[in-house]
This record gives sequence, C-alpha cells and structure tokens, in this order.
Amino acid sequence: MAKDLTRRELMRRSIAAGGLFAAGSLMPVSSALADQDGGQATTRPSARGQGPGFGAIGGPQGHVQGDSRNAATVAHGVVTQPRREVPVLHKTSVLVVGGGPAGTAAAFSAKRMGVDVTLVERYGYLGGLATGGLVLGIFPLYARDRKQVIFGIGEEFMKKLDVLKYGIIDRNKAPVYPTIDAEAFKYVLADWLLDSGITSYLDTWGVDAIVDAKGAVQGAVFESKSGRQAILADIVIDCSGDGDIYAAAGAAYEKVKSNIGLVSRIGNINEVDMAPGRGSEDPEAARQQPLVGKPSEGGRPSKGRVTDFNGHAGNSTPAPHVNWLNMRGPVGDAIDNADLTDLELKLRRGTWTNVEKVRGKPGNEEVYLTETAPQLGVRLSRLLDGCKKLTNEEIHSGAKFKEVIGYSGAYANAPEFQIPYGCLVPAKVENVLAAGRCISAEFEVADITRLIPVCWVTGQAAGLAAAMCIQHQCKPRNVNVAKLQELLHQQGAYLG
Ligand SMILES: Cc1cc2nc3c(=O)[nH]c(=O)nc-3n(C[C@H](O)[C@H](O)[C@H](O)COP(=O)(O)OP(=O)(O)OC[C@H]3O[C@@H](n4cnc5c(N)ncnc54)[C@H](O)[C@@H]3O)c2cc1C
Repeated sequence: MAKDLTRRELMRRSIAAGGLFAAGSLMPVSSALADQDGGQATTRPSARGQGPGFGAIGGPQGHVQGDSRNAATVAHGVVTQPRREVPVLHKTSVLVVGGGPAGTAAAFSAKRMGVDVTLVERYGYLGGLATGGLVLGIFPLYARDRKQVIFGIGEEFMKKLDVLKYGIIDRNKAPVYPTIDAEAFKYVLADWLLDSGITSYLDTWGVDAIVDAKGAVQGAVFESKSGRQAILADIVIDCSGDGDIYAAAGAAYEKVKSNIGLVSRIGNINEVDMAPGRGSEDPEAARQQPLVGKPSEGGRPSKGRVTDFNGHAGNSTPAPHVNWLNMRGPVGDAIDNADLTDLELKLRRGTWTNVEKVRGKPGNEEVYLTETAPQLGVRLSRLLDGCKKLTNEEIHSGAKFKEVIGYSGAYANAPEFQIPYGCLVPAKVENVLAAGRCISAEFEVADITRLIPVCWVTGQAAGLAAAMCIQHQCKPRNVNVAKLQELLHQQGAYLG
C-alpha cells in the first residue's frame, strides 16, 4: 500500500476503477473460509490469498497513516460529521439484514430459488435470540388439537438438530414444546450457510437504508471494523427484529414497548420448575398438560421493576443437568440505548442473585451459572404498518385469508391462526419486505408472531417472495401470491 494513501482513499480509487475489493475492505466470511475448506459459499470475486486463514501465522501488515478525513468536528457544542462518499462493498439481488430465525429462514429459502443472496448479521454467529438470546423453547408449533401446523424450513432446522447428540429434546410430544441447544443450532446454521452459496458478512451492523430519488430502497449502509460501507440490492428483507432498515427507509411503523428479559443457563441442576409437563416421569401425564404461554405486557415504564429473581431453577435443555431460565423481565424501550444499558446491567446482577437463591435449596449446593445470554431478550419494538395489519379480533375469530403464507400454532389464549402475505409488505415504501418479530400486526398478535417457529414461517415466505421479485421483475406488493403459495408448498410449508 502506498505509504501516503489512506485506506479509504485506496478503496475509493479501486471502486472507481471497477474493483469492489480494495486491500483492507471487508472480505465475505464465506469466501475466506471457502478457501480453506473447499466450500462453495460465495458467488463473489475470489478473495484467495487475502486472508490469513487457519494455521497461517499473522504478521506486520505495513504502516498505515491514521485517517481523520471523516472525523466529526465540534464547534460551539455542535458536532458535525462531514458529507462523505460511502464505498460500495457489494451488489446483490436479495439482501437479508439480520441472521436470526427469520433472517436465516429468508436467506436459505431465497437462495434455493437460484437467486443471488447476501446475509448480514451484526454479531459473530447466526440464530439471533434463538442462540445468542438463549431462547431455547420452540413454542407455538401445535394447533389446539395438538397437530403440528408449522413445517417448512423450521422443520428442516429441527431435523438437522435431531441427528446431533444433545441438539434438541422433546420433539413431537405436543403439548410439550421442543427445546434446542444454542451451540448446536449455531453449528447447524453455520454449516448450512457455508455450503449455501450465500455471501455473508458477520460482525456488520446495518445502520441506514439506501433509497433512490423516489424513496425506493436500493440497499443498506453498514458499519463494521472495515468502516462504513454500502451494499446495493434489488430487494432488502428486514429481519433485524427491530425494523431498523425499513424505519430508516421511511416506512411507517408503530413503536411499542414490551418485556425485556435476559435468559441464562445454569449447570449441575436436577430439578425443573418452569415447564408444565416437563420433568414428568410419565410421558402420558406430560401430554395431558394444556398448551402454555403467557401474553407479554406493553407500554408500562421499566425503571426499577427488575423482577423474576425468585430462585427459579428453569427448564431442562438437551445438555444433561443444564437448565435454561427464560425471563419475562420489565417493560422497556428496545430502541432506546439508555433502557438497554440499564437492563443489561441490572438483569445480569439479578441473574447472579437468582443462582445464589437456587443454590440455597437443599440438593442444589453445586449449581453454577453457566452463562448469561450474550444478547438481551428483546420481544417487540417496531411493528410495521404493512399492506395488512393482522388483528387480535381476526386471530381469535379464526379468520381465513386468500393470501395465507403460513400458520402460527395456538399460544396463550389464542387458537392457531393464519398469517397473510400483506403483513410482510410495507404499506408505502418499495423494494423492502419484513419478516420475524417486526412484521405488521397488532401488539397482541405480534406477541405470538414474534415466537421462533412463526419467525421461520414469515422468514421463509419473505425469502421466496423476494426471489420471485427478482425472477419476475416485480415489486413485493405485486408478487403473485398463488405462485408464492405453490413455492411454499414445494418447500414443505403448511398452509392449512
Ligand atoms: C426473553 C425472551 C424469551 C423468549 N422465549 C421464547 C420461547 O421460549 N420460545 C419462542 O418460540 N420464542 C421465544 N421468544 C421470542 C423469540 O426468541 C424471538 O422473538 C425470535 O427469535 C425473533 O426472531 P427474529 O429473527 O425476528 O429476530 P431476532 O431473533 O432478534 O434476530 C434478529 C437478528 O438480527 C440481528 N440484527 C439486529 N439489528 C441488526 C442490524 N441493524 N444490522 C444487522 N443485524 C442486526 C440480530 O443480531 C439478530 O441476530 C422469546 C423472546 C425473549 C426476548
């Protein structure tokens, strides 16, 4: 690298010359590992030889002059960031932002249609709350009559866990829900991604939308250790859970507050006290239990209401003598960093005291805190104003939709219900779809559609719809839903 050329300047020149990969730019994870493993996970220019790889020993990379060209300035207490060009890191057909249950389902389903897909995730692993949040129960899979109503890619994920030792327990035992192991699921998702042909960027945070003069989405801007970079895309699927990208693009949404918890795992434990039906010696007795679930609260202030630390022992997990402790937590604002910081600290302190209380019970003296979840358990924050908002009245009255893309199982006091395609499509902004916990539904409904298997359902439908947009050159709102339903059937989904 020329000594007097900054990294950003080098990148800018290289892009102007037609190359997207300047030295020091972010290299797709999949490309780097494909070089080592002979995997096929890239549709991108080869990065061969650029990364150190496994087994290689790193060393000095040369001196680089610090780059202060884009530093913000302060004058009279006002901080200003100068206008700047954002390097284009990558161009793709379908861009999925967020690698949780919805995002992985969307990316894998879209890729199977043969379109070019890119998946971006802010953390260093996939699975979202189902792994990093230690949310391990796969809740509303079953209808009131105890028949499973969610299949498709979610069932495929669980089948991959079935064959792993300590991967998943309590499969096909309605009303007891399966429980997964977070590390096993991270492994399943990484393994699938590496062989998928999807371009992926981890440790990369979506910070803004890119829109054209008419306000139609054209991609997103990301921040990572490589700096601020853009990915241009024909269709963006917002699977961030919080609607970060559709909100930045100007799509209307409802802001809600909900319970925020911090899940943990404890080891050396032999009792279970948070799962009806679990731990019963008699499997038939377990089957007689009612379908469970508790609605979340919304709207009340959180400060000072840190509860749930009464010495709970939690639910069993696939790992022997290890329990997970689901937590309701206080109501908080998940898009307010002050609330998040407050809860990150208080809930960790509370979790430790909970374990001390568990240890206080005879027989539990050797219980230990295995881990607190790396990520805070956010339930709901932004709910899209979509072409269709699914209402509480509709789900309780058993409404049927011509545009059904899947089901949620029964949960709390709600029966199983259909989800229409319009819940994934913003009412106004073009080229973007939503999937997962930030879709368009009333609070009480979103409190169910946010659950893991339902996020698999909306993720799969969004992925296939996005692929159809590419193949038929149409906008998400103009997708032929009958054809989408056909594709969902072909991929094993249940539509009633
Ligand atoms: C405490 C708690 C307990 C729960 N218990 C259960 C349960 O027992 N069973 C059940 O089925 N469900 C449960 N849920 C709900 C369920 O876990 C989540 O709602 C579900 O995982 C949502 O999936 P998602 O893909 O929409 O979002 P998430 O799982 O939140 O995934 C979103 C992903 O996007 C990434 N991301 C976010 N913002 C950005 C950005 N700007 N740029 C890039 N990446 C980004 C995140 O890191 C994450 O990986 C629980 C939730 C909580 C909070």
